[in-house]
Amino acid sequence: MNLSQRINNLAPYLFVEINKKIAEKRAKGEEVISFGIGDPDHPTPNNILNKLHETSKDSANHRYPETEGLLSLRQAIADWYQNRFKVTLDTKSEVLPLIGSKEGIGHMSFCLIDQKDVALVPDPAYPVYSVSTQLAGGEVYYLPLKENNSFLPELDTIPQDILKRAKVLWLNYPNNPTGAVADISFFDKVIEFAKQNNIVVCHDNPYSEVTYDGYKPCSFLEAKGAREVGIEFHSLSKSYNMTGWRIGMAVGNSTLIDALKRFKSNIDSGIPQAIQYAAIEALSGPQNCIAEHNAIYQRRRDLIVDVLTDMGCVVSKPKASLYVWAKVPPKYTSLEFSSDLLEQVGVLVIPGTGYGPSGEGFVRLSVTISDAMLVKALSKLSSWKNTREPFKPKR
Ligand code: PLP
Repeated sequence: MNLSQRINNLAPYLFVEINKKIAEKRAKGEEVISFGIGDPDHPTPNNILNKLHETSKDSANHRYPETEGLLSLRQAIADWYQNRFKVTLDTKSEVLPLIGSKEGIGHMSFCLIDQKDVALVPDPAYPVYSVSTQLAGGEVYYLPLKENNSFLPELDTIPQDILKRAKVLWLNYPNNPTGAVADISFFDKVIEFAKQNNIVVCHDNPYSEVTYDGYKPCSFLEAKGAREVGIEFHSLSKSYNMTGWRIGMAVGNSTLIDALKRFKSNIDSGIPQAIQYAAIEALSGPQNCIAEHNAIYQRRRDLIVDVLTDMGCVVSKPKASLYVWAKVPPKYTSLEFSSDLLEQVGVLVIPGTGYGPSGEGFVRLSVTISDAMLVKALSKLSSWKNTREPFKPKR
C-alpha cells in the first residue's frame, strides 16, 4: 500500500511509544509506575458531570453542532477571561471553542504555513507545534530554552534569513516540559518582536490555573497589542480535570480566529453539545476544585522534588504546570537515566530529549500520579540510589 510521504515521515506520538514500552513490560509481569503523561488522576467535578448527564438526554444535543460552538459557551469563555485576566473578548469574532486545544494547535499551522515557511518553535516543547508545522509543509527553526535564560527563548539570536521566512512564533508559559513561567514584560518584548518582523504569535496557555505557592500566571492577551499579533490557546483539560472530554478554546486576533474556524468547518463537525454545556458549567460554576487540585499537586511536587534531590538530581520547585523538570545526576544522559530507572526500579520518567534536543540532561515527571502510586514510586526511587551498581556510561 502506498501511503503519503507525509505519513511515512511521521513518527508515532511520543506517548504512544512510551505506552507501548510500558505495556510490553507489564505483559512480562513487571510492575511499571509511570510519571509520564500530565493527565489529572482525580475525576471531573460532580457539578460538571451532572450537567453533562442532564444535557446528554436532550435530543437537541444529539445532532450536529455548529463549528463555532454555542453562543452561550463563547459567552462563558469570554466571561471567564474577563474575570480571570481582565481581558475583554468579542464572542462573535475573538472566541472559538476547540475539540481540545491540541486539535486547534495542530490545525492552526495549516492556516499559517505554506511550503518552506518557517515556524519558530521552542526546544524543548510540546511536540504538536513542530509536527503540525512539518505536516503543513513548513520548516521548524528551534529556539533553545536554556536554564540560564529562565527557559525563555532568545529572540535576538534568530538569524535574519530565518526571520524573513518565519510566519509564526509558538510559546507556552507556564511551560511544558520545563515548568518555567513568563511575566508580562516578556510578552511585551514578544509583541514588539512580532510587529517588527510581521510574525504571528500563538501562545499556548493550558496550565494557567495549575499553580503553586500563590503564583498567578498572566495571559498573553493581557499584554498591550497582543491581539494585533496573535492568539492564545487554552483548555479545560488541566484546570477542570476534563482531559477525556476534549474541549478547549482559541481566543484573540479575529483574523486568526476566522481562519481557524474556516479550516475547522471543512474538516470537523464541532464539539458534542452536551460537552459544551459541561464546559459552560465548568467555567461559570463553582471554582473551588482548582484550589483543591492544586493543593494535592503541590504536596506531590514537594515530595517528588525531595526524593529526586536525594538521588543526586538538581531540581527547583515549579511555580506552575503539572511537571517537575529535573537535571539528571552527573554522567548520565536523559535517556540513560530514565532507562536505568525503568530497568532497575520499574519507574518511568520521560527523558527531556523526548521534547527536543535541548531537553538533554533533564527528565520530566508529572504530578498526576495517584497518592497510593506516588508513595510506592517514591520508595522505589529512593531504593535506586542504595541498590544500583556504580554507573558506567556506555560511551
Ligand atoms: N498544550 C500543552 C503545552 C500541553 O501540555 C497539552 C497537553 O498536555 C496541550 C496543549 C493539549 O491539551 P488539550 O487536552 O486541551 O488538547
